[in-house]
Amino acid sequence: MTLLIYDDIFLQHDTGYGHPENASRLENTVAHLRQSNLWEQLRVEKPRAASGEEVGLVHPPAYIEAIKKIADTGGGWLDADTVVSAASYHAALYAAGAPLTAIDLVVKGEKENAFCLIRPPGHHAIPARGMGFCLFNNAAIAAKYLQVKYRLERVFIVDWDVHHGNGTQDTFYGDPTVLYFSMHRYPFYPGSGRKEETGQGKGKGFTINIPLSADTQSKKYIELFTDIVEQKTAQFLPEFIIISAGFDAYRKDPIGGLNLEIEDFGTLTEIVVKSADKHCQGKIVSCLEGGYHPSALPLCIETHLKALLRK
Ligand SMILES: [Zn+2]
Repeated sequence: MTLLIYDDIFLQHDTGYGHPENASRLENTVAHLRQSNLWEQLRVEKPRAASGEEVGLVHPPAYIEAIKKIADTGGGWLDADTVVSAASYHAALYAAGAPLTAIDLVVKGEKENAFCLIRPPGHHAIPARGMGFCLFNNAAIAAKYLQVKYRLERVFIVDWDVHHGNGTQDTFYGDPTVLYFSMHRYPFYPGSGRKEETGQGKGKGFTINIPLSADTQSKKYIELFTDIVEQKTAQFLPEFIIISAGFDAYRKDPIGGLNLEIEDFGTLTEIVVKSADKHCQGKIVSCLEGGYHPSALPLCIETHLKALLRK
């Protein structure tokens, strides 16, 4: 019922010593899923690489070429925390390709939902520039792919990463066919995501931001989340749901934190699954974004997967 998309290629994106977004996030998760026997309950598939044309659905060719060039010449930095290593371009093409691989299988009806265990993450990457650990915007490329390849007219992106997904917001700010919803700590990195940011032109009303102060308790968070997901899916009638699944709202996350417990990610997932069942035959593709607590991230992902599996 649930697909897990993963490849060791994601471990080759090397962010350097001491970086919170590092390969051990995925290594620890894979080890934990294998140990807890959840691995066997999933259909595990390798991703394909996204083509230049597919990444180009969001990012201009000059930017894609620039990332390739930095990688080909041994690596460099896009900003103080966003590293491109020699293998990063390649890894990023597969990270962007993972949700596309998942979408093809989910749309065919072979599996009803999927989780992409990927890095580099994506939701901070704006079309012309990567930032905040993100090179290509995996979730945004996935939504564009659903529009272009499958002609979907209504895609819902739910972003519960503790940081505002400025890149995804920018991509669809004027687009009424993609409803973008983010709950995030505010004020916080990257600085955007005020309640008043609701879209522009035809896209007005199709961006929903719920900024939360650092002391927001999980009960309040879940109430707000439930109301928005239930109400907005009933109005918007999504044909497909993409989750930007960051796990850095976990209360002990070293660079995030918003008082969520590990189990709360299961609750959030159940709420989305319920709406997906009601409106789009359960079709969900979830993409890993942040989540930096070394021992809690695998547990958060386990909880998320169990809810996708309906366990
Ligand atoms: Zn984050």
